[in-house]
Amino acid sequence: MAKSLSSTHSVLIIGASHAGISMAEQLRKNGFEGRITMLDREAGMPMERPPLSKAWLVEKPDADDPRFLMRQASWFEEFRIDFKPGAEVVSIDAPAQTARLADGAELGWDRLVLATGAIPRPLPIPGGDDPSVFVLRVPGDAARLSQALDDARRLAVVGGGYIGLEVAASARKRGLEVTVLEMAPRLLARVASAGASAFFHGLHQDHGTTIMTGASVTGISRYGDELHLVTDEGTVMADAVVAGIGVVPDLALADSIGVETGNGYKVNAQYETGHGGVFAIGDVALPDEGYMGGTMRIESVHHAQMSAEIAAAAMMGNPAKGHEVPWFWSDQYDRKLQSAGIVPAGAETVSRLGRREGATSFWSFLGDQLKAVEAINDPQAYTIGRMVIEAGLDLSPDQASDSGFDLKSLMRR
Ligand SMILES: Cc1cc2nc3c(=O)[nH]c(=O)nc-3n(C[C@H](O)[C@H](O)[C@H](O)COP(=O)(O)OP(=O)(O)OC[C@H]3O[C@@H](n4cnc5c(N)ncnc54)[C@H](O)[C@@H]3O)c2cc1C
Repeated sequence: MAKSLSSTHSVLIIGASHAGISMAEQLRKNGFEGRITMLDREAGMPMERPPLSKAWLVEKPDADDPRFLMRQASWFEEFRIDFKPGAEVVSIDAPAQTARLADGAELGWDRLVLATGAIPRPLPIPGGDDPSVFVLRVPGDAARLSQALDDARRLAVVGGGYIGLEVAASARKRGLEVTVLEMAPRLLARVASAGASAFFHGLHQDHGTTIMTGASVTGISRYGDELHLVTDEGTVMADAVVAGIGVVPDLALADSIGVETGNGYKVNAQYETGHGGVFAIGDVALPDEGYMGGTMRIESVHHAQMSAEIAAAAMMGNPAKGHEVPWFWSDQYDRKLQSAGIVPAGAETVSRLGRREGATSFWSFLGDQLKAVEAINDPQAYTIGRMVIEAGLDLSPDQASDSGFDLKSLMRR
């Protein structure tokens, strides 16, 4: 690992979203007094990403609505961050420790942080590039989609993951007819237990959304203003389409840096790449010793913040905390999902009814070990489930599914 930083050093952070901003903040909290420069190719002040599919899409706020800013302007002054919006890095000269910008400018650095995140996977089918097919990652995407929803009556969402389902809920709230098309046999197949999938399937159906699972979209044809989505289950008509089929890490700078990549920049447990002094954090990082000891790229605000915390401490030569149990949330209609851990293949999942009306949770075990909890409108189940996973406390599937079993008793042991 490169030597610790001093006040004469400079750090260049590429990407001013959840990971990049946390990194800048954590460097200052770890006592770094040197220069921090943070760049983003997006213009304007950095905005929170999670609301883009939720409140932002429903409320249609002004572009600079302060409620959705990641940090207010005063934060950049307070933390002495030289922030350059609308600045894209096009290549890195790692031996010379410089970054070249799209406008030809060159910036030097002592430590480089790649917080370049991920980009939406385009729909790889004929018609997937139609102007009425939208993706959702950055505020500009949300603005384009929101404008299209103003003029549309029918929305088709291709991909039944969290972002697709959140967009579906927001569009229903705006009065559109919505169809969700998912290729897998169930919604959220990649990320949730079968119980949680079934719960959200029912929730969306109850709100009038048509859900088609096992439906592969093979092409999109335009007839005037109308789009026809061809699937093996029949044709679906729509005025606008959202492609929510996942993201790929933004590794555009990898070749010029010459670092090893897989499904992300390969990093060690401190989020440092094979090139000393070059770190990668957030959605773009692929830790080799991350959660559960495995190689896994995690896409969440929590991972963006945690990886920044670990990398900043390592950069400053301070003791870093270990990798935490990952957590995530999603808001759909009046339901808040909070999940901790990762549902492993082959897990046994049991469900539990919470005390409050509408509170439900799903507990996934491998043997007698709790690996993940997915709690819906049940913050207590989430908090205790997360603690059980973190501390490796004893909880059996029978206890978890018994709503008479007092979860709080686990905290007293
Ligand atoms: C609509 C939506 C809803 C979400 N909801 C949730 C949720 O409810 N809960 C949750 O935990 N997570 C949610 N997520 C995921 C979460 O937002 C991401 O995990 C998080 O944004 C990752 O942060 P990041 O900084 O690693 O990457 P990103 O947010 O992708 O940011 C990377 C930044 O780097 C910039 N960049 C890339 N390359 C360059 C370059 N060469 N030069 C300059 N700038 C560059 C990009 O412009 C971008 O701003 C959601 C994401 C989206 C899109």
